[in-house]
Amino acid sequence: SRAQVFGNGKSTNVSFKDVAGLEGAKEEIQEIVDFLKHPKKYTELGAKIPKGALLVGPPGTGKTLLAKAVAGEAKVPFFSLSGSDFVEMFVGVGASRVRDLFKQAKEKSPSIIFIDEIDAIGKARGRNAQMSSNDEHENTLNQLLTEMDGFGTNSGVIILAATNRADVLDKALLRAGRFDRQIMVDMPDLNERKAIFNVHLKPIKVTADLDREFLAKQTPGFSGADIANICNEAALIAARKKKKMVEMQDFLDAVDRIVGGLEKKNKIIT
Ligand code: ATP
Repeated sequence: SRAQVFGNGKSTNVSFKDVAGLEGAKEEIQEIVDFLKHPKKYTELGAKIPKGALLVGPPGTGKTLLAKAVAGEAKVPFFSLSGSDFVEMFVGVGASRVRDLFKQAKEKSPSIIFIDEIDAIGKARGRNAQMSSNDEHENTLNQLLTEMDGFGTNSGVIILAATNRADVLDKALLRAGRFDRQIMVDMPDLNERKAIFNVHLKPIKVTADLDREFLAKQTPGFSGADIANICNEAALIAARKKKKMVEMQDFLDAVDRIVGGLEKKNKIIT
């Protein structure tokens, strides 16, 4: 439905506390929160506030979470759409959705627009010329560029977009005055995984001897999304066994289960 595509235009309840690790990315994006909260501080000195930033990193590392945290911290409305919604769309629909989204965000400014999987609309033009959806992609991308350029520099709307692959994006998107800032959102290291476990263990009843360090050590190559998944899976396993608390073994079983799932997924791909 429309409402889903556009987000609800309400602020999110997400804050930087919900985002574990990613200190560098948080520090960079903190500036965007400040642009939204105190625009005059910048404009009175003659500065132009950037229109957008691109969050770049592997799946499940917290890009969407970080974008929501910006809206939550600045207490501004959050509008979102996903590039994958534009796959197989009728002619003209993509462009008009983009136009509507920007219109709504401008009406509610200061606000955040978040475009997930921007590569699905923002792939370099001219590739896949044989695909029939190509023209429609191009229309959608062109509309996005038009909207970004049409914004006054200090419109109060900031556009965040996420991608796993900045290298496939149309260079026009990365030009000055568009997504000219890139913020890296990397896979978590050992300490970051520990911090992510701590966030996602908060609502879970665990035994006092739970070794978080060990869990972090057992999960190299896991994203934040994988770790969130482990925590929930462990609680489900414990509940199934009618336990009153979730134990270390439940977490290890959850890790095994998720590693198994990941292996299967990889097998299908290759
Ligand atoms: P994708 O590229 O697949 O869209 P993403 O980078 O946008 O992924 P999110 O959707 O933000 O990832 O992450 C999914 C979920 O994983 C989050 O809602 C959160 O529960 C958890 N998560 C991911 N990264 C973190 C993190 N750094 N701290 C805490 N939780 C995290």
